[in-house]
Amino acid sequence: MFFWDSTMLVVLPALLLTFYAQWKLSSTFSHFSGVGTRSGLTGAQAAAALARRRNLGVGIEPTGGSLTDHYDPTTNVLRLSEPIYNERSIAAVGVAAHELGHALQKADNYGPLTLRMGLVPLVNFSSSASWILFLIGLFAHLPGLLWAGIAAFSLAVLFSLITLPVEFDASRRALVALREDGIITSQEEPGVRSVLNAAALTYVAAALMAVLQLLRLVLIARNSDD
Ligand SMILES: [Zn+2]
Repeated sequence: MFFWDSTMLVVLPALLLTFYAQWKLSSTFSHFSGVGTRSGLTGAQAAAALARRRNLGVGIEPTGGSLTDHYDPTTNVLRLSEPIYNERSIAAVGVAAHELGHALQKADNYGPLTLRMGLVPLVNFSSSASWILFLIGLFAHLPGLLWAGIAAFSLAVLFSLITLPVEFDASRRALVALREDGIITSQEEPGVRSVLNAAALTYVAAALMAVLQLLRLVLIARNSDD
């Protein structure tokens, strides 16, 4: 998104979805952060209980920031933001269980997670290289570089698409496990589901943005040929 031109219109739907998804996540999250569960577990306690029942030797640590929760598959550690780690709410239990869902994927050798992990170093390199190649190609009128930049950017698009099944599957596993272990009641389940769906929507928005950015780059490249 380095300059404004008419092709910006192509990414507009993704921009709107991104704003909506962020609003939806923060409003859903703040609502369910204030709703307790009958089990009364914190996010960290819920994740630990789920891990114990499934013999997952996973570490659970608090980390700074808000909504910074993630699972690190290389060290097998769940890092939960302090509110999720410490609080006793539908939101905390849902997010913690979702991250544990990723640990379950790792233990199961879930294919899309393995593929996603394998792509990380490649994508880190290609996403920074793609813009440099594209911009040099565009301004120096070197179509080869321009299209090499687009090819490199395609990897980032692929990455954001593979993220979708990984995220949806982690939430599905989280709900099943929470139910199985009686950590949430059937009345609490729709709340957990709302939190997880709101979080998933941000990944859908990011994937749509990546796809439309790619389309935009192709349009710019084609226009520069004329
Ligand atoms: Zn996730």
